[in-house]
Amino acid sequence: MDVKKLDGQYVAPTYARFPLCLVAGKGSKVVDENGKEYIDLGTGIAVNGFGVADEEWIAAVTEQLSKIQHTSNLYYSEPCARLAEQLCLRTGMKRVFFSNSGAEANECAIKVARKYGESKKGAEYTTIITLRDSFHGRTITTLAATGQEVFHKDFLPLTEGFVYAEANNAQEVRRLAEKYPCCAVMFEVVQGEGGVRPLTKEFLKDVEAIAKEKDLLLIADEVQTGNGRTGKLYGYMNFDILPDVVSTAKGLGGGLPIGATLLGEKVADILGAGMHGSTFGGNPVCSAGALNILSRIDDALLAGVTERSRYVFDELTDAKGIRSVTGLGLMIGIECERPASEVIDECREKGVLVIKAKHKVRLLPALNIDMEELKQAIAILKEVCAK
Ligand SMILES: *Cc1c(COP(=O)(O)O)cnc(C)c1O
Repeated sequence: MDVKKLDGQYVAPTYARFPLCLVAGKGSKVVDENGKEYIDLGTGIAVNGFGVADEEWIAAVTEQLSKIQHTSNLYYSEPCARLAEQLCLRTGMKRVFFSNSGAEANECAIKVARKYGESKKGAEYTTIITLRDSFHGRTITTLAATGQEVFHKDFLPLTEGFVYAEANNAQEVRRLAEKYPCCAVMFEVVQGEGGVRPLTKEFLKDVEAIAKEKDLLLIADEVQTGNGRTGKLYGYMNFDILPDVVSTAKGLGGGLPIGATLLGEKVADILGAGMHGSTFGGNPVCSAGALNILSRIDDALLAGVTERSRYVFDELTDAKGIRSVTGLGLMIGIECERPASEVIDECREKGVLVIKAKHKVRLLPALNIDMEELKQAIAILKEVCAK
């Protein structure tokens, strides 16, 4: 079967796909339709945190799958309740709303912020401050939250009530908080799609102080930075701040679609019965997968993420053909002298899958990638960048 042709004819042409059809894999190795093997440093965009066909995860998912695959939120379901408990115990948050994607997790965070502003401060307190070069999703409202013009054009008018500050410029956050009737500040601690750019601790501490002073919710979009990716369970834990709302998705389900919006003390009960919902949210199979993933993101695993991260930074920083290496944990952006797309294509030909973020090459390897495979892949990447 010519999958590329079929896809080209019938799938909406919204993706510029790489000319590659993946069919199987094991751990950090994936295999294409011709049987060629690759070391995968992209993990389906930070989703397959424990690689492909992980046996423990498969066992957890299939056990649930053979019991009941879906209940709807009209009924109670144990995996969903247990997952919410684990997320709260591991973060100190108080409640969780489950959905199916990052954009939806952020939609919920935005609804919480609007409700908080309205009920705590007054009906006009609806504005949310986000950052330039942020990425929060593809729905009309999360596009509005996304501080990048390129995503906005073609879809106007977007949801009102978002203003944008420059990343790492607390002065501008303060200016916006004083100019507009605000209810929240929303950020990624490492801007992923925006070029793998970490915010500074100083900035985040300042934003936290501004939020406290002006009674704004602090919303951490941990869709990409969450679930062990940065070397902590959630990225904010690297910065000594405590958000009021944490949204996450991507790596949480280990490859199954799940989004979660974690609600802190201030907003735990702000959404009452009938105010928000999702047919699939908290689906038992996805929750069982997420429970398995979460149970394995322990101190040893996180120490391994940091160790692997250090290896990659040490190898690539100041290497030939590499201008800069940024990021945190196993979320790494590389600015090359050669165009990123050339590097990506050549790596793929040599059996290594890497992806892009703006003009950079982005690495999002499995949290438990075998050290030898990582070394092999980084050696190939270095060789390609040096050309
Ligand atoms: C990927 C991403 C999203 C959107 O997630 P979807 O599951 O594609 O809706 C939102 N925020 C951040 C930070 C992301 O990286």
